[in-house]
Amino acid sequence: MTEQLMEEAGRIEPWLGRTFVCVCGETHRVPLRKVVLERGALAALPAYAQERGLRELLLVCDRRTAEAAGQALLERCTEARLQAKLYVLADDEHGELAADERAIVQLLLHMDASAQGLVAVGAGTLHDIVRFAAHRTGRAFLSVPTAPSVDGFASVGAPLIVGGFKQTVPACAPEAIFADLEVLASAPRPMIAAGFGDMLGKYTSLADWELGRLLLDEPVCELAAEMTRRGLGLCVDHAGEIAAGSEVGLRRLMEGLILSGISMLIVGHSRPASGAEHHLSHYWEMRFLQEGRRALLHGAKVGAAAVIMGGYYASTAKLSPGEVRTAVERRLADPASYDPAAAVTAIREGYGGIASSVLAENAAELDPVRRRAQLELIGGRLVSRWDAVRDVCRRVPEPERLAALLAASGGRTTPEQLGIGPGLVEDSLRFAKYVRSRYTILRLQEWF
Ligand SMILES: [Zn+2]
Ligand SMILES: [Zn+2]
Repeated sequence: MTEQLMEEAGRIEPWLGRTFVCVCGETHRVPLRKVVLERGALAALPAYAQERGLRELLLVCDRRTAEAAGQALLERCTEARLQAKLYVLADDEHGELAADERAIVQLLLHMDASAQGLVAVGAGTLHDIVRFAAHRTGRAFLSVPTAPSVDGFASVGAPLIVGGFKQTVPACAPEAIFADLEVLASAPRPMIAAGFGDMLGKYTSLADWELGRLLLDEPVCELAAEMTRRGLGLCVDHAGEIAAGSEVGLRRLMEGLILSGISMLIVGHSRPASGAEHHLSHYWEMRFLQEGRRALLHGAKVGAAAVIMGGYYASTAKLSPGEVRTAVERRLADPASYDPAAAVTAIREGYGGIASSVLAENAAELDPVRRRAQLELIGGRLVSRWDAVRDVCRRVPEPERLAALLAASGGRTTPEQLGIGPGLVEDSLRFAKYVRSRYTILRLQEWF
């Protein structure tokens, strides 16, 4: 049973709609029931809706995706005698769509009471708006990705901007995904590169999860980790085709993104797919939002951040056991290490208006008794388990390799190329570890 589960980790089909007892001992449930990933996948949606008894659908898109797929899907639905309407969400002042109060209210106001299903026709942001609305109004949620830009299509949480701050609100996963390769092939190149960047970040997120297990006994689901690893492998093995935008490349990238999404669905959190590289990206995003700057593509930021974290992993891998022992002894002997005051000051400085929620997220580390216990545990294990920790570090590709892969996909490899200045990068390297109270390379780095 165990072997069979692990063998199937690289495929999407075996997991759809399944409830099973996992190698990790937990019972996992995958709410996603159907994935159609092929040329002409749009045509499969009306039949699925009919089979599910969804007679009235609202197809939600933005200006760009209405043209790319919304209109064509509307015609298909009408031909199939479904009651379908197209609703085009208006852009914000940057000429873009944001998952904020304005977009959500727009959608809620235009939703007929009789609509049984909401179909997201777009990329990540549009999915998050529709995911939230479908969940809160108890409607079926179907997904039509128009770009392979992010692994969040299959996710449960909706990252929304509320009152100018981003927060992840519980929502629901789509029950079916219809990813049309013809539509994906016409996605803007930077969005394809962003999807690749989001996947490249799995090297560091998976390593971060391993650090959590080795140093803090954090539970790891081997199946979820393997799914993410295989999804990443599909993308890296087909990097050339992805860069060329070929059909096989887009298929592999989308498979990788969906596998990563399923891995998060089964464990019920984003740990397999999101580590320090995502924390850096979130920190940059938060500051852009505070400064009223135009948002960058999620995966573009994650890719560039993964290169930096790859550098941290590479330098950590070079430490000798003697250097580690000395560093650990020094830190554990320093009374300032046990005082949470510096962390509180850093969070206030780094997070401004949202410092209180960040302080709450990091409560364990800020409690002096728990902080001491945790530092002693981690310090002891860094010495006694250094070989294992170093192996985790060594499995992350060198930053040059990550940058080369990213560049080949057409992505930007440094924050500077994305318009993120050195000051913000420096701030993020100090403060981003507080975005989530997860153990990552950013926290390991503190010791050396
Ligand atoms: Zn991501
Ligand atoms: Zn599991």
